[in-house]
Amino acid sequence: MKTMADNNQNDLVSKITALCKRRGIIFQNSEIYGGIQGFYDYGPVGSLMKNNWKNCWWTENVIRRLDVVGIDGSIITHPKVWEASGHVSNFGDLLVECKQCHKRFRPDLIGNVNRCPECQGEFTQPRKYNILFHTEIGVIEGEKIPAYLRGEACQTIYLDFKNVIESSRVKIPFGIAQIGKAFRNEITPKNFLYRTREFEQWDIQYFVHPSQMDQWYEYWKQQRVDWYGHYFNQKDSLRLRQHASDELAFYAKKAFDIEYHAPWGWAEMEGIHWRSDYDLSQHSKFSGQDLSYQDPLTNEKYIPWIVETSGGVDRSFFFLLLDAYQEQVLPSQEVRTWLKINPKISAYQLAVFPLAANKPELVKIAQDLYQRLSSRFSVDYDDSSNIGKKYRRQDEIGTPWCLVVDYQTLNDQTVTVRDRDTMEQTRISMDQINSYLLNKLEKL
Ligand code: ATP
Repeated sequence: MKTMADNNQNDLVSKITALCKRRGIIFQNSEIYGGIQGFYDYGPVGSLMKNNWKNCWWTENVIRRLDVVGIDGSIITHPKVWEASGHVSNFGDLLVECKQCHKRFRPDLIGNVNRCPECQGEFTQPRKYNILFHTEIGVIEGEKIPAYLRGEACQTIYLDFKNVIESSRVKIPFGIAQIGKAFRNEITPKNFLYRTREFEQWDIQYFVHPSQMDQWYEYWKQQRVDWYGHYFNQKDSLRLRQHASDELAFYAKKAFDIEYHAPWGWAEMEGIHWRSDYDLSQHSKFSGQDLSYQDPLTNEKYIPWIVETSGGVDRSFFFLLLDAYQEQVLPSQEVRTWLKINPKISAYQLAVFPLAANKPELVKIAQDLYQRLSSRFSVDYDDSSNIGKKYRRQDEIGTPWCLVVDYQTLNDQTVTVRDRDTMEQTRISMDQINSYLLNKLEKL
């Protein structure tokens, strides 16, 4: 089998972008108006996939853990939150502007050259641009309150820390998890979902006693890289990168990024941050509330320290697509494209087709099968064009198994099951489909 994807790393992003549009995974937002940079929509297939991806994270980190609880916080908060967090005074990139064409560039991304790469014009001195999105609360002129769309989702967790402690039975060490939208007025949105202006983050803020910070930091670092490793085909495309001392926040003893080897180089997917007591102390100071924790056994009172794991849902989903994309030249010279993605993330775990759309007896069995299986699995049904086209569509959206009702089904109640990755077809009895699939899914 010849895999072409490896040879074509450079145009892989365009191939994925085209596939996403063609198959209803992701669309450019406002496309009929010419699009708007840095905003995307998930289509009928993509919204199922993204929900599955989030569900994998939530199940692992909240449902299956006694020491982590979840919240779902609001996007707009009290504006003081962003003063306390430092985002109002310091959230953005250093940029230079070309005095001739007025385009702005991040010096670090254009190799610190001193002339405009587009027109050779002279640059201004570097200036900081704040990337928080501004909005206003209220409708009456003169009474509107300026506010921000949250620049990172995690701040809401700090805001709810006291409420969570008082309303649940959590005891340190414990974590609060959240999946939610964040907004950044990025100067250079690029590489499809990699850098957008509206995106989702998944965060865990894990609260610990300062004396246990090191051990919990190491625990989460490993836990998160292992978790991603479970879903990516190419394990060596993931790595942990330690931040150099000049990249560290003043309160951080160390920091690591989980990176993916993207077609344009190693790129951050999630940060594992040592936040010490910085966030809770800042919010205590700015709100005037006591955000310390009292240990119920020892009565010791302290501001907990935090290990943060903060990843991008859309960014990691994009990396998953890059990792899953496969091409194969068939003996017919046709190129087969498929997504080799974990079936837990696929939009549909299986698709059901009648072999021919104009045979009512086959259509009836296929529709009944769809009805029965869709109460247990996510199932697609397709009685449109020819069988080859139906397989191509399911391959391209990563459906792991396709069931075909054919003439033999009428005689012996068996159907063919085609495997996405091997294209092997086997026959199984219709009453064994449930156990066949459950058995496969259990092993993932
Ligand atoms: P970068 O250096 O790439 O701008 P960051 O270090 O500012 O990222 P964090 O503030 O640590 O990112 O946010 C946590 C995660 O949120 C990142 O690891 C990334 O996966 C995701 N993320 C951040 N900015 C964006 C963006 N503009 N578009 C999509 N995802 C993003």
